[in-house]
Amino acid sequence: MSVTDSRSLTELAQALANGDTSSVALTEAALTRIDALDGALNSFITVDRESALRDATAADARIADGSAAPLTGIPIAHKDIFCTRGLRTSCGSRMLDNFTPPYDATVVERLRSAGAVVIGKTNMDEFAMGSSNENSFYGPCKNPWDLNRVPGGSSGGSAAAVAAGLVAAATGTDTGGSIRQPAAFCGITGLKPTYGLVSRLGMIAYASSLDQGGPMARSAEDCALLLEAMAGHDPRDSTSAQRPVANYREQLAQSLDGLRIGIPKEYFGEGLDSGVAAVIEAALKEYESMGATLHEISLPRTALSIPAYYVIAPAEASTNLSRYDGVRYGHRCDNPKDLEDLYTRSREEGFGAEVQRRILVGTYALSSGYYDAYYKKAQQVRRFIAGDFASAFESVDVIAGPTTPGIAFALGSKTSDPTAMYLEDIYTLSVNLAGLPAMSLPAGFSQGMPVGLQLIGQHFEEARLLGAAHQFQQRSDWHRQTPKLELPA
Ligand code: GLN
Repeated sequence: MSVTDSRSLTELAQALANGDTSSVALTEAALTRIDALDGALNSFITVDRESALRDATAADARIADGSAAPLTGIPIAHKDIFCTRGLRTSCGSRMLDNFTPPYDATVVERLRSAGAVVIGKTNMDEFAMGSSNENSFYGPCKNPWDLNRVPGGSSGGSAAAVAAGLVAAATGTDTGGSIRQPAAFCGITGLKPTYGLVSRLGMIAYASSLDQGGPMARSAEDCALLLEAMAGHDPRDSTSAQRPVANYREQLAQSLDGLRIGIPKEYFGEGLDSGVAAVIEAALKEYESMGATLHEISLPRTALSIPAYYVIAPAEASTNLSRYDGVRYGHRCDNPKDLEDLYTRSREEGFGAEVQRRILVGTYALSSGYYDAYYKKAQQVRRFIAGDFASAFESVDVIAGPTTPGIAFALGSKTSDPTAMYLEDIYTLSVNLAGLPAMSLPAGFSQGMPVGLQLIGQHFEEARLLGAAHQFQQRSDWHRQTPKLELPA
């Protein structure tokens, strides 16, 4: 059955503008695809049929009267971590299974003003904790390239929905790799912006000093279009950067002549799968042929990013998640004996195993007596990691390497070993610790599965990353490959 639509946002916008299709037709087609394929994929937690069709009808009216914005009429999906007014926002957790926000996250609001039609909310690891989407209360999402493999996490539902052609674009969030790693595993393009470029208001908090929302789509050009809509100062988010939004699309055509690409030797050592390495090396050669120069660099504390991150992120999570106590909102247990029982059982029933593990680790790391030994030490390592990037950027313009050490792994293969799962994040975590922008773009295949190339930039240099990715996509068609969904009979 060939029901998928592999057109990019740019192509869909063109088709709408030419009158070749309508928003209602696009939205109905997307809903039909979700009905046909999502039973097998499980990429959506909630589909908002009526409201999507209502918005599509309104979008068609705007197109007809000439008042369309750049995304008017195009159906997209939001990771279920972004609050959507009147539409359940679960964060992948039983704790918020009954939570219907009274307001839209700034990202949702801005994409609505840019005209996008919200079709539903995508599956994710509970509270964005995970690298495989297997920590979702709603069951694992599957990788459309091989239904026995994970799509990556925590934004696995968004990545799978885009890769499978259910929607052309979706939002994601990246605290330690959750946009880039699933983008790599599913063969799509994803951008984690500089910390502070995209508002966190209404994005359910995991680790506030690391969380950042961003676009997931088929191409760098589409990510540029989405980022223009999503980015920009938000007076309601105190960590939001006060900078004008760049015109990212205008800068896509930049020449790569003389671009200095740093290749961190630590990203090519032990643990990197040879098939992934071969794809990345070929992609780097392609960059050389476009006029870029390659320079070996060192990011000596790369290995320390895992222990530092897995102290800092759980510490912040343990405080952020203390609000889910069964009283203010969220899941409440039945017939509590007393207040203590109400707190304990509501949290025990509402949170899954990985979330409970992080709360325990984080609470321990922040407790008096251990604070200096763990949390403070991790913050010092974080500072060193940021310093290593700053020194590297004295001699190079961007840094390139693999997004992940291997291709998408089999469902269930790492669930019993949290540390093996944490090792998956080795090339992505340090970027969040340093607050830098980075993206993953499709660079080839290994064993029939997509491989992602990661590009890391200096603070607020999204335009340079998007341009470098776009130039690669002008010369390759890896990002145009689509999975042949083999549905179980
Ligand atoms: N895998 C990492 C974690 O579990 C990163 C998740 C994310 O970026 N949200 O914390």
